[in-house]
Amino acid sequence: MQSANPALTIPHTIWNEMIAHAKECAPHECCGMLAGTDGTVLAHYRITNILQNLTDQELSRFDGAKLRDLQCLLPEERADIAFQMDAREMALAQKDIRAKGFQLQAFYHSHTSSPARPSQTDITIAMEFESYREKLGIPQPLHIIISLADEDRPDIKAFRIADHASVEVPLACEGK
Ligand SMILES: [Zn+2]
Repeated sequence: MQSANPALTIPHTIWNEMIAHAKECAPHECCGMLAGTDGTVLAHYRITNILQNLTDQELSRFDGAKLRDLQCLLPEERADIAFQMDAREMALAQKDIRAKGFQLQAFYHSHTSSPARPSQTDITIAMEFESYREKLGIPQPLHIIISLADEDRPDIKAFRIADHASVEVPLACEGK
C-alpha cells in the first residue's frame, strides 16, 4: 500500500484498528477521527455513530432519496446506511488533539456493503463541516471510507471534499 506522494500516511496499527472498528460496528457504519502532523497519522479516535438516535427534524439535512429511505427505517436500522458523529466525543477528541500538539488529519467512516466512495450524504455532511471549520481553527481534513463490501478484502480510500465534489487522494500504510 505504498504511494509516491501520499496525501496521508497511516501506521499499520491504526490502519488495522480502523478495519477492526468497521467490522465491530457492522452492520452499522462506524466513524472516527485521525490526527497527527504534516500528513502523518499519530492518533486514532473512535467516535460513536449517533444516527440511530436522531429525530426526523435532524434527519432533514439528508438529501431527498436518502432521507426517504431513512424515514422508512426503524431508528436502530438507520445507522446501517449513514452516520452522524457524537458531537461531545468529537469535542473531547479535538481537545486531546490540541493537547498533543497534533492537528485533525481525517474523518473516517465505513460502508458496510457499498464501495469506498463518498455518497451524496457524505458530501453534504462534509460540506456542512466545512461551513464552520474555519471558525474552529481546524485545517481541512480528508475523508476516509472503509468499505467492507468485499468481506475478505476491506478497501480503504481517502478523499478531499470541496465545492460539493470529492477527489480521491493517495493513502500510504507504513511501519508498525
Ligand atoms: Zn458514507
